[in-house]
Amino acid sequence: MGKILELTVEDKLYTTKYETDSRSHIKVNGDLCRTCSSKPCLRFCSGDVYKINPSEPDQVTVNYENCLECGTCRHGCPFNAIDWQYPDGAMGVKYRYG
Ligand code: SF4
Ligand code: SF4
Repeated sequence: MGKILELTVEDKLYTTKYETDSRSHIKVNGDLCRTCSSKPCLRFCSGDVYKINPSEPDQVTVNYENCLECGTCRHGCPFNAIDWQYPDGAMGVKYRYG
């Protein structure tokens, strides 16, 4: 029997291809982020899109290029501060199987 290839999440993300749009398909409401002390977006996003803004620690930066289009942030933000739309046209993530 053949050996089963075990891949880490990082390995799997590496197999994912992106077409990067020049405009972000994700916008956050910074006023609401300022009031959000727990910042769960730093943990629930599997694409590691949200990071603490080093120059404004009560804000998050949005690395929209990494978005896996899982849709979690539409429901996971406790303040409904994330405006997430599908990327335009052929932009965004392309999953490769096999
Ligand atoms: S969870 Fe929502 S409100 Fe909190 S920091 Fe992230 S985007 Fe902002
Ligand atoms: S849709 Fe998924 S991968 Fe994209 S930003 Fe939201 S939680 Fe992260």
